[in-house]
Amino acid sequence: EDVLRLTGLRKAYNPGTPLELEVLHGLDLRLQRGELTALIGPSGSGKSTLLNVIGLLDSPTDGELYLLGRPTRDMNDEARTRLRNEAIGFVFQFHHLISAFSVLDNVLMPLMIRHGKPTAEDIELARGLLAEVGLADFAGQKANQLSGGQQQRVAIARALVTRPALLLADEPTGNLDTRTAESVFELFRRINREYGCAVLVVTHDPRLSSSCRRSIELVDGRIVSDSGEAFNQP
Ligand code: ADP
Ligand code: ADP
Repeated sequence: EDVLRLTGLRKAYNPGTPLELEVLHGLDLRLQRGELTALIGPSGSGKSTLLNVIGLLDSPTDGELYLLGRPTRDMNDEARTRLRNEAIGFVFQFHHLISAFSVLDNVLMPLMIRHGKPTAEDIELARGLLAEVGLADFAGQKANQLSGGQQQRVAIARALVTRPALLLADEPTGNLDTRTAESVFELFRRINREYGCAVLVVTHDPRLSSSCRRSIELVDGRIVSDSGEAFNQP
């Protein structure tokens, strides 16, 4: 089953104005359950734009985007938000943790947004994810007491707490040192193996991307190479 499918996907900023700038020029792509895929390409090639569109944070100008088999073009905002919360987890370069909250409450946040007060089950799940990212003993600490690498791991646990089918990560290791970046990537590999969610991760680091089974290169808003293409033909 495809977690994600793009057909002829285009994205222009400021469409219909003199400032119109098309940055994604008709992309076709399929991501299957359990695929760990790196998205690489030079700065300005459209990687962040693509991630925002896939994450339903921004709308395509043309083409179609199917998430979990559902076409999204004609969805209203409410339906898009519901599908986003159901299907997608996000990890950004700057993790946007709430520094005054505990590590555990940061991880619980997406569930609290969803249904208010966390249940005992929620807390068990969040603690399990903290253990998974190596931070079981830090649950009660304030987020700002942790190191950069630790905070990024909290952000990964938070992104997984809703059990997303697709995890999107935009340069999650961009401000980490090499060793810490490698450990965060190792964590993505393990999550991908254990939870079976598809992971799409933007990275500038060729060593990290080459450790992914599939890597997609975007140049000037077009996919110029895709090492997984052969597996993905019907
Ligand atoms: P990358 O993530 O590969 O660096 P981006 O998706 O950030 O690429 O940017 C692709 C192109 O879109 C760039 O030319 C950038 O200047 C332009 N762009 C990004 N965001 C906006 C925006 N909000 N409005 C107008 N142009 C934008
Ligand atoms: P910092 O941000 O200060 O570098 P980290 O908490 O990221 O500290 O940990 C530093 C190193 O510890 C990592 O590079 C990694 O080698 C190791 N490490 C700690 N916990 C884990 C973990 N759960 N998974 C993998 N490596 C880990």
